[in-house]
Amino acid sequence: MTQPHLYRTEAVVLRHLDYGEADRILTLYTPQHGKVRAIAKGVRRPTSRLGGHLELATHAHLLIAHGRNLGIITQAETVHAFLGLREDLLRTSLACAVAELLDRLTPEESPSPPIFDLLIHTLDRLATTRQPELAARFFEVQLLGLSGYRPELHECLSCRTALGPSGNTFSAAAGGVLCPLCGRHQADGRALTTNAFKVLRLLQSGDYPTVSRLRLDETLAREVELTFRSYILYVAEANLRSAAFVDAVRARSAEC
Ligand SMILES: [Zn+2]
Repeated sequence: MTQPHLYRTEAVVLRHLDYGEADRILTLYTPQHGKVRAIAKGVRRPTSRLGGHLELATHAHLLIAHGRNLGIITQAETVHAFLGLREDLLRTSLACAVAELLDRLTPEESPSPPIFDLLIHTLDRLATTRQPELAARFFEVQLLGLSGYRPELHECLSCRTALGPSGNTFSAAAGGVLCPLCGRHQADGRALTTNAFKVLRLLQSGDYPTVSRLRLDETLAREVELTFRSYILYVAEANLRSAAFVDAVRARSAEC
C-alpha cells in the first residue's frame, strides 16, 4: 500500500457541514488549489486537536492527505481567526455572504491566488473597519471582475459610447450599464442615480483606501447594494445553470 500523498496549504473555511457522529465536511478556499472539499474527522469532539482552527471564515495552515473522494485534514493551525467577525452579527452575516458568494461563483480546483488575497483582505476589513458594508461591496465587484463577470461601467453596452454621469440604466442581463437612450428599451433596466454610478465605478477601480473614506447615506448604500445584488443573482444563476448543463452532458456521454 502506498502512503497517501500529503500537501500543506493555507485555506479559508467557506462552508461546513456536520457529518456522522463527530466529523465535519468543509469547503475550503486555498491559494494554489482553489476551492477544495475536505473532511475533518472527529473535529466536533471537545478533545480534537483540529477544533477551533476550522471555524467558518478562519484562515488556517492545513496539512491535507488526498483521500478517495475528499481530502482528509490531518493538521490545522489558525493563522488569523478574525475575531472582530465573531463579536458582531452584521459583520458575521457579511462574512457568511462573502464566503457563500465565493463558493457559488468558483468551480472546484480552479486556483486564483488574487482571489485568495482578496478574500483574506476582505475578512480582515470586515472584522475591523467601521464600514463593513462598503468592504463587502468592494469584495463583490472585485470578485466579479476576477471571476470573468466584470460589469461594464464605462461604455454603453448597446451603442458603445462613453457613459456620462447621469441618466444611465443598469441591466443585469446586459452585463452592466446602458446610456440614457439605449437604457429606455432595456426590459430589466434599473435607473441608476449619478451618485450610485460614481460609487460603482470607484468600487471597481480597486482603490480601497478611497472607498473606505466614502460616507454613503442609507438610500445610496441601499441602491448600490441592490444593483449588485441583481447582477450577482443573475450571474450566479447563469453559473449554476451552465454547471448543471455540463453535468447533464457528461452524464449523457458516460451512458454512450
Ligand atoms: Zn447607448
